[in-house]
Formats: sequence, C-alpha cells, structure tokens
Amino acid sequence: MVLRETKPAEPLAFDTDKCIGCNRCLEACQIDIMIPSEEKGSPPLVAFPDECWYCGACVMECPTGAISLQHPLMNQVRWAEKSSLTARSEA
Ligand code: SF4
Ligand code: SF4
Repeated sequence: MVLRETKPAEPLAFDTDKCIGCNRCLEACQIDIMIPSEEKGSPPLVAFPDECWYCGACVMECPTGAISLQHPLMNQVRWAEKSSLTARSEA
C-alpha cells in the first residue's frame, strides 16, 4: 500500500544574512517551538513546526527583520471583488 506523504509545515523562514543569532525570537515564542542553534550567529532550529500558531510574535521581536512567516495554503485567503467574479462567469 502506498501512503501519500504530506509535506511538513515550515512556518518560519529565516534570512541567514540578516540573523545575528540573538535568540530573541525563541524567547518570544510562548509555545517554545524553537531551540537554540549550536552555531553562533545562526537562527534557532524550528523543532516543532506543526505547533506554530502563526501569531507573529517572533517576527515582531526580531531586531533585524530576519524572519518571515509562511502561512499554510488553507490560511492564504485571496479577496476578489464580487463584480469581477460575475463578469468572468458571464464572459
Ligand atoms: S509565529 Fe508565534 S507560535 Fe509561531 S514560532 Fe513565532 S512566536 Fe512561536
Ligand atoms: S530574533 Fe532575528 S536575529 Fe535574533 S535569532 Fe531570531 S531570527 Fe535571528
């Protein structure tokens, strides 16, 4: 039997050029999904990515803007004017 594999969540993307390894993001996270990196000056490791609430506290705490949140696809709502949808269906 072949089981379909689901890609694991990757809630945080770190810009390693900007990160200074201060671990402020790690301390800001209320559910402790990160652990410190063993490499000095590197971003922490995301040990429990599925637990992320996407609250953005780590992003706001980062002094260098090194983190971006990657919301799961089902949370990426796209808004469209109702008129544009109607026009498309009538075409
Ligand atoms: S978005 Fe919130 S829950 Fe997720 S890692 Fe950052 S602080 Fe933690
Ligand atoms: S707060 Fe920003 S600079 Fe500090 S460790 Fe986290 S990602 Fe790197």
